[in-house]
Amino acid sequence: MADEESSRKFLRVAVVGSGPSGFYAAEALLKQKEIGVQVDLFDRLPTPYGLVRGGVAPDHQKIKAVAVVYEKTAQLPGFRFFGNIKLGEDLQVSDLKMRYHQIVYAVGAETDRKMGIPGEDSPGSHSATAFVGWYNGHPDYRDQKFDLSSDSAAIVGVGNVAIDVARILAEDPEILAKTDIADYALEALRRSKIRTIYLLGRRGPAQAAYSPAEIKELGSLGVADLVVREDEARLDDASKTDYLDPENKKNVDYVQGLTKMGEGNKPKKIRLRFCVSPVEITASGGKLHALKIERNRLTVDENGRAKPIGTGQFETLPVGLVFRSVGYRGAPIPGVPFDLKSGKIPNQEGRVLSADSKSPCVGEYVVGWAKRGPSGLIGTNRADSVATVKCMLEDALAGKFGWETASFDQRSSMDEFLRQNRRRFVSFSDWKKLDQIEIEEGKKKGKAREKFSRVSDMLGILDSTVGTA
Ligand code: NAP
Repeated sequence: MADEESSRKFLRVAVVGSGPSGFYAAEALLKQKEIGVQVDLFDRLPTPYGLVRGGVAPDHQKIKAVAVVYEKTAQLPGFRFFGNIKLGEDLQVSDLKMRYHQIVYAVGAETDRKMGIPGEDSPGSHSATAFVGWYNGHPDYRDQKFDLSSDSAAIVGVGNVAIDVARILAEDPEILAKTDIADYALEALRRSKIRTIYLLGRRGPAQAAYSPAEIKELGSLGVADLVVREDEARLDDASKTDYLDPENKKNVDYVQGLTKMGEGNKPKKIRLRFCVSPVEITASGGKLHALKIERNRLTVDENGRAKPIGTGQFETLPVGLVFRSVGYRGAPIPGVPFDLKSGKIPNQEGRVLSADSKSPCVGEYVVGWAKRGPSGLIGTNRADSVATVKCMLEDALAGKFGWETASFDQRSSMDEFLRQNRRRFVSFSDWKKLDQIEIEEGKKKGKAREKFSRVSDMLGILDSTVGTA
């Protein structure tokens, strides 16, 4: 009865995905004063926070602390969390359309881009995404195996993810032991034999995608020298415009400074290379042996962008492990428009467009990486979500809804629907119980938290302590 009452008064919104963009959309919807709103936030995992939990490196606890802001959103009146509910499997878009006036897709970019080189699928060749998920205890990746028994590894790409992977491989495991790194990953890193890590940028230091703070942190590790070749750090003609950008300038100046430090005397080396592209991975007998790279020169393309051109000069790096860190990519969801070329949900200012990108899907919206592609820092998503919410409110005030809403009050509520369909959902208070257990388990070991990394363990502990939801 209460639900029927409220559905007449409130704009009912389903947000799919509980990473930063989903939480910022929920916050903007619940904090505005124009319309009463109820938000149900869905996630396919029992745990909220998306990449803040499963992507941000464990030694970046200050960044992870942004979850406190999301927790405050979860306390706002009108908010509900439905964890462990996957759109397209446990629930269809049509089920949402029967119960909500508007849907927001905040599904991120769940997969990664390929390099497109021979040998890419060899054993020992991995996506950085998988490695990041593995050391962060993400249920999808916790059973992946990474053979850390060779002396050298290569990481292709010089974005912030590549820097994270290099740092986790190089860092003293006893420093990581105090974080929320997955226990199995910590043990594997303690046994790791990797001493040389190549970080490979296909363009020059003025085009590196990492942030100045991240590269400086990598250059300040106690156990590894960050080594840069003088000839590769030099600024060429095609990079002069990029160098005008203050962030790029900081990056160039920093690596040029590193060239003066030489090899250093720390036990591990991170060899940051520029203007080299991966060409081929070789493996035999189930083991990866080498990564062939080609030297590039830079030219400026018709858009004024520095472009790498192969020179025909090759080099072979004797590595036992290759991580491609060349960017995330969106994955399609059944019933949701998706542009295969860009890997995004087609949209205009966050209003979803049909797959042919011509007609708007009224009532459907998108935020975050699914909207604009996999770029930007966590905070970038706040303004992005606020912009989409502005469109949603405009449409709601103009009475623009995509489907029949008159009989909402006749229909069962979402929790009833999920129970009827035997879908085990995790509420926010369930999550807070898991959160508490993780923190307490972590304390016993001197860690920030000890994460659950299996969905069955999470549901099992909830069922044993609080009964079924
Ligand atoms: P990214 O910033 O887009 O970097 C991708 C890198 O891969 C670039 O260096 C790119 O070079 C290179 N690349 C692409 N295709 C390639 C190819 N075929 N061969 C060789 N290199 C190739 O992506 P990301 O590192 O996955 O990061 C995603 C987003 O998350 C970024 O906005 C990042 O800042 C953010 N993030 C932030 C943090 C943090 O703040 N600590 C941590 C992790 C991630 P080109 O430039 O030449 O294309």
